[in-house]
Amino acid sequence: MRLRFFGAAGEVTGSCTLLETSRARVLIDFGMHQGGPHAESRNMRVPPFRARDIDAVVLTHAHIDHSGRLPMLAHEEFRGRIHATPASVELCDILLRDSAHIQEADAERLNRKRRPHGRTRSAAALYGASDVERVMQQFTATGYGEAVGVAPGVTVTYHDAGHILGSAWVELTAEDTDASGRPVTRRLVFSGDIGPYDAPLLRDPAPPPACDALILESTYGDRDHKDLDATIEELARILRSARTPKGKVLIPSFAVGRTQQLIYFIGGLLRDGKLEPTRAYIDSPMATEATSLYRRHRELFDDDAWKLINSGETCLHFDGLKFTRTPDESRAINAMGGGVIVISASGMCTGGRILHHLRHGLPREETHVVFVGYQGEGTLGRRIVDREPRVRVMGEPVDVRATIHTLGGFSAHAGQSDLVRWATPALESGPRLILNHGEDRQRAALAGVIKERFGVEATLPWFKDIVEL
Ligand SMILES: [Zn+2]
Repeated sequence: MRLRFFGAAGEVTGSCTLLETSRARVLIDFGMHQGGPHAESRNMRVPPFRARDIDAVVLTHAHIDHSGRLPMLAHEEFRGRIHATPASVELCDILLRDSAHIQEADAERLNRKRRPHGRTRSAAALYGASDVERVMQQFTATGYGEAVGVAPGVTVTYHDAGHILGSAWVELTAEDTDASGRPVTRRLVFSGDIGPYDAPLLRDPAPPPACDALILESTYGDRDHKDLDATIEELARILRSARTPKGKVLIPSFAVGRTQQLIYFIGGLLRDGKLEPTRAYIDSPMATEATSLYRRHRELFDDDAWKLINSGETCLHFDGLKFTRTPDESRAINAMGGGVIVISASGMCTGGRILHHLRHGLPREETHVVFVGYQGEGTLGRRIVDREPRVRVMGEPVDVRATIHTLGGFSAHAGQSDLVRWATPALESGPRLILNHGEDRQRAALAGVIKERFGVEATLPWFKDIVEL
């Protein structure tokens, strides 16, 4: 049997690994390439395998860089099942619909631009809403700990990865025959994305078993994150200092995961008396939908969250928090005086309602903009973080007089120490180790640490590489 790497090989997006045995073909994740000038064209390129030859897809979690190309399978004659945890299925429904909407809007905008220049070839979206609807019919929900046969000789069990709601690492058992025709069975572990230990709301990642091969992510393979408690204290200081008659706080935030954590943290600061009662708005339809989904799946929350729930508190709400619905409600926030916190998407300011808040707020000295996540190269968020004095927002030049803060301690990913801590039970069994989902510097650093501690040599595959098992 062999693994073929068609994404997230020496990079952090486009997750896609194909397992081939003599009897089955199983795809693990089919994510989008994101960021960088070539991402779009790489997504357009038809993958070098025939979708109709794939028996099943095994999805680790709903993030677009792991799930974003699944709707393309709908028009590529893939007729198999897509396996995912119940929360991942529901999150995919939200994220893939949004992805289709963004692509259709982008293609339309490009075509409007091209038409006056007489270009004949029109831009096309990778997929549309109807493809998402079709592909959602092919999902099969499987809970943590349930072994499910996904293809001839291939069984899969999901385990909690502690990364986002419903995220999983995959224990996969594959039966095949070796060169001399003898039956072989291999146990593989695909980490997907592993969350940090002691993260809010979610449980710590479950430990992996001894295995024949470990395919391990390496996003932060070269470093540890800043201390989370210190980061929350810093957030509290910023929120307190912004409480002036005209002071407003804008927090661009990823709709899924980060927004829910922020609600949890701010609620905690209020409960602990570290913050005066405040007005706060979640101003993103997708964040509102995702928050409802988190609330519906509180069976996935960790012990700390349950202690709170059992004491009669709510994890994902606090007095003064409002979820805006209509664009009019969103615009009304601009007219409000000070003492308001606005949490809005997108996290890197590439679209969404955060844009009109920035256009309104960036020129004012009383505004504080707090960045709580990574800002990709070339995004508006990155330009603001880099302290450009003037930026373009919604096509208009805007002077930046607001105070800009960057909080580096929030992460949905395990840092180097947590990755090694998680992988230890598997590494001690001396598996074949393959590092993916990390840039070359990050995965090389992780490979070095693991070699030194466990004596296990890592394979670092590139796009289209084949690893025989
Ligand atoms: Zn992820």
